[in-house]
Amino acid sequence: MEKHVFGPVPSRRLGRSIGINNIPPKVCSYSCSYCQVGKAIRMQIKRQPFYPPEMLVKEVRQLLQQLQHTDEYLDYLTIVPDGEPTLDSQLGALIAQLKQFNIKIAVIINGSLLYLPDVREDLSQADYVSVKIDSVVESVWRKINKPLKQLQLNTILEGISTFAKEYKGMLVTETMLLKDINDNHESLEQTAAYIQTLKPAIAYLGIPTRPTAMIDAFPADEETVNIAYHLFQTKLNRVELLTGYEGNAFSSTGNFEEDILSITAVHPMREDAVVVLLNKTMSSVEQLNKLLDKQMLKKVYYQNNIYYVRRFSSTFYR
Ligand code: SF4
Repeated sequence: MEKHVFGPVPSRRLGRSIGINNIPPKVCSYSCSYCQVGKAIRMQIKRQPFYPPEMLVKEVRQLLQQLQHTDEYLDYLTIVPDGEPTLDSQLGALIAQLKQFNIKIAVIINGSLLYLPDVREDLSQADYVSVKIDSVVESVWRKINKPLKQLQLNTILEGISTFAKEYKGMLVTETMLLKDINDNHESLEQTAAYIQTLKPAIAYLGIPTRPTAMIDAFPADEETVNIAYHLFQTKLNRVELLTGYEGNAFSSTGNFEEDILSITAVHPMREDAVVVLLNKTMSSVEQLNKLLDKQMLKKVYYQNNIYYVRRFSSTFYR
């Protein structure tokens, strides 16, 4: 049976969190050039129900029960699907039901639907919202985020601003820096100035640290990241870089196949992390090869490292 809840996984921002995948693979309003889970399979801006919240909550409860007898601790339940979580019209109901576990709830969004009052209302219940703002320059935004044509940048930025004013939880922004796409001074300057108006708790600057959807999407170089950091710092209280690999502290439910398939659906895993997981679950490399043979996983090379990524079936929507 397909699992929609995974972890706990280490997160660069959220400590240890359980991930909740509330929409089917790669349903998104954007098709970002750096997306780590591949090109969007289905692009849309219309909200709709996907999985019943009760089903997702049941999976969370089961995982928490499994973790009860371990020394695992948790910082967050994080709604972070391999697509855009606000496309789920039952997001509000899901967050409301997750509150019963008394664990903070985070949602990682691309911000494109925040112009909709019902999306803002749903997210108002979350403790932490991270919104993507890669560029506020129209041409750069189109190039990096590859939005659906009917989306308008001005409307999106107004929506994000309205949410920032209304929201009582912890709002952070994330800006991914890509070489020769959004790392020029004009884009960085304008983006930092806009983010300043939102008064986020933290403005994160990231670079892709895993394989990207487009082969021409490269991380900005260290020099440029340093320039961007200092430029953002002149306008914002707290700026942090997200440029490192999280390490190998992926947790295990004891079942290698289940663990690697659920983790790689959202996080490609570096080879050394997979080896740690194999050891932790007392599994053999044959089990890994079996998943490769069945085309459920793919081995890719990126910046001198081998990664394992989840393969999604293109027949999913037929
Ligand atoms: S990075 Fe996020 S917003 Fe961009 S295409 Fe991938 S899932 Fe969608």
